[in-house]
Amino acid sequence: MNGTKNTKNRKDKYKGISLSNGVGIGIAAIHRRHHNITKIFAENKEQELNKLATAHAQMNQDLDDKFDAAKLGMGEHVDILDAYRMFAKDKGWYKRITDNIDGGLTAEAAVERAYEDMWKRLSGTTDNYMRERLHDLRDITDRLLGYIYGDNIDNSFLKNAKDIIVVAQTMGPADLMDYDYHKIRGLIIEDGTPTMHVAIVAKALGIPVVSKIKGIYTEIKNGELIGVDGDEGYVYIQPDQNVRQKFIDRLEEREKLRKKLATLRKLPSKTKDDVRINLYINVGLNFDLDYISTTNCDGVGLYRTEIPFMASETMPSVEQQTQYYQELLDKAGRKKVVFRSLDVGSDKLLPYWRYGGEENPAIGWRSIRITLDRRAILRNQMRSFLRASAGKELNVMFPMISNLSEFREAKETLMLELEKEKKRNRNIPKKVNVGLMIEVPSVVFQLEDILKEADFVSVGTNDLAQFVFACDRGNPRLMERYDVLSAPFLRIMYAISFLSASAGVPCSVCGEMASNPIEALALLGLGYRNLSVSGASFGKIKSMIRTARVEDITDYMNILLKSNRNSIRQQLISYATDHGIEIY
Ligand code: PEP
Ligand code: MG
Repeated sequence: MNGTKNTKNRKDKYKGISLSNGVGIGIAAIHRRHHNITKIFAENKEQELNKLATAHAQMNQDLDDKFDAAKLGMGEHVDILDAYRMFAKDKGWYKRITDNIDGGLTAEAAVERAYEDMWKRLSGTTDNYMRERLHDLRDITDRLLGYIYGDNIDNSFLKNAKDIIVVAQTMGPADLMDYDYHKIRGLIIEDGTPTMHVAIVAKALGIPVVSKIKGIYTEIKNGELIGVDGDEGYVYIQPDQNVRQKFIDRLEEREKLRKKLATLRKLPSKTKDDVRINLYINVGLNFDLDYISTTNCDGVGLYRTEIPFMASETMPSVEQQTQYYQELLDKAGRKKVVFRSLDVGSDKLLPYWRYGGEENPAIGWRSIRITLDRRAILRNQMRSFLRASAGKELNVMFPMISNLSEFREAKETLMLELEKEKKRNRNIPKKVNVGLMIEVPSVVFQLEDILKEADFVSVGTNDLAQFVFACDRGNPRLMERYDVLSAPFLRIMYAISFLSASAGVPCSVCGEMASNPIEALALLGLGYRNLSVSGASFGKIKSMIRTARVEDITDYMNILLKSNRNSIRQQLISYATDHGIEIY
């Protein structure tokens, strides 16, 4: 990419905003762009046909080379690649594109139109094989568009790289899995925010993330050496020896801190005044499972089941789901696991599902709204949960619930599946607990009634904050405007913990607030005793807990709740520093 761009005026250091702490240095891998087609009608037909022919030939050559390399191995990936390659060479598809160019479209618009036509014909089919082909066609369409736009999307140089920095304009959480995540040392997302899902996944992997540097995505070239400082929010392009040495020193420091935090593993999660705080972890992708044993946590407080759905090529069957969930339960042993029902939509999109462009996807048809409307998906998932938990305790939590009747409907779906399992003489769980996430403000106003019917609740502060402040969690422009550490949000959080405690219903926080030491300290002061955090921040949160006194922070939060400042973050940081509370 950018082969023609003048790089002389580039700076060697850019300031952005940190979305995940840590430092890393490595070779840049530019993540595939999503192309918005702006030029639809062509001025010169011949030129467009030539552009298409060159891109198509180049793409096929690269696919052939990749295929020859992959052939050295055997198995599914070779078959997939072969099917993909056949698709790319399909004459019918190519003809449809050239016909569109003949009709007056630009090469890129013609490629997109060929996809749309095919999609219209096939999207209604229930045939899984055809749906998968549609997915391949989307991929091949994007790939061809990449060649037309002249992106260098040949990532073969990454094969030998040990350390990579992924550079994206924006990304979905499963896109990180396009790379070998063991090698990712940093992530730069031009349009990123801390609670967007890819940032949450990166944080869970311990990958530093920097965002909000305008133009950085087109500035960096594939294969360049890049340093990411996720503590201060800097990106270094082609850092000199001096800067590289600083990165090495910082990495050593962080390793020391990691070792120090690891020594807390066997120590109880208790405050200085002996209040036990239950500490759970959030799980999404497979790598999170390792944290169950390495952190010595109390269990899994949030299993984001949609993430394996997103990483899959097709909607997983009951058998496949049961197997995923069983694997998790086996890893958890006797520890508690809270399964969340499928929470897709907004920025978590399934590749095999078309959502139809919505004006406001974050408040649109997403999450429980989808699964209540497409009840078979919910039923299948409930059946899989029940089967995976046979003979064990099952905890199911429903996301994005907006009122009591919605919760009842979801709960009833689970209970009906339980009855069916009994009728089938299948082994059932020994106990089933049903809870909900508090993320839509309306439920706070009905909470006393809901708490009579829920076995537990968990606050999803990422979504709750975006709805309380009417502020898109994925919009970088709004990132610093509102703070969860301010009276409007903290008062709501206090009301939730107070009402739950009064009703005797366990209440936890599983949003990102719990994974940030200073914000988690505020939560202790508001009465929260159950936190579910990302595996990578577990040690930091435990260390904060072990150096804090609940009685003191409760008194201080009572004072801060009256403050009408835009943010009370600075006061809390000073308080922590003055009281020797560790907030790494
Ligand atoms: C939340 O909204 O706080 C939450 C935990 O759910 P997710 O981040 O997956 O939307
Ligand atoms: Mg949420």
